[in-house]
Amino acid sequence: MQNLSVEIIPVTPFAQNCALIWNPETMQGAVIDPGGDVPKILAAITAHKVDVQSIYLTHGHLDHAGGAAELAAALHVPLVGPDERDKPLLDAMAEQGRYFGLDLNAVSPDRWLTEGETIDIGGTAFSVLFCPGHTPGHVVFVNEEGKFGIFGDVLFRSSIGRTDFPYGDHAALIAAIKTKLLILPDDFAFICGHGPESTIGAERRANPFIR
Ligand SMILES: [Zn+2]
Repeated sequence: MQNLSVEIIPVTPFAQNCALIWNPETMQGAVIDPGGDVPKILAAITAHKVDVQSIYLTHGHLDHAGGAAELAAALHVPLVGPDERDKPLLDAMAEQGRYFGLDLNAVSPDRWLTEGETIDIGGTAFSVLFCPGHTPGHVVFVNEEGKFGIFGDVLFRSSIGRTDFPYGDHAALIAAIKTKLLILPDDFAFICGHGPESTIGAERRANPFIR
């Protein structure tokens, strides 16, 4: 992405790719999916001297949203997203945490996101696309001009998000990937919620789950 800097901060025992993204000229930016390890995220923000304006969530899973309330309180910035259909997951953050021995509270975003709207990251507009299946309210962020996106747990390098949860929907996930993501150009690059980044072209060629 030409006019934005990106630092991936692996957080939680799940090595979730929290992303700190900012405009190197204005130093304004955003944090996406602060799943935990908030001191580590704050250290990265301080090290790069980023003026964080917002926190955005792709979906309501613990490893993406578990540190969101703590980080929003520390930075005094709005917590935005995902789609409201993930509210039950965010409401149940204490239960999600207890399962892994973590003491967490419910996460209450300042506002939800809806497909078709745009969010601002360091002065660059990203479209919000609703891509359910991994969770009911999963959203991804796409900048078509810069050919760059943040895809959360929808599409990974050579894999896709798991759907073996009670609320998972494999058919919906595949439909969202095919109709909303695979229509992007081959050289469109994206950050995944876990593991290395990839491009649409690489996944179109080699991802066994979307053949
Ligand atoms: Zn997830």
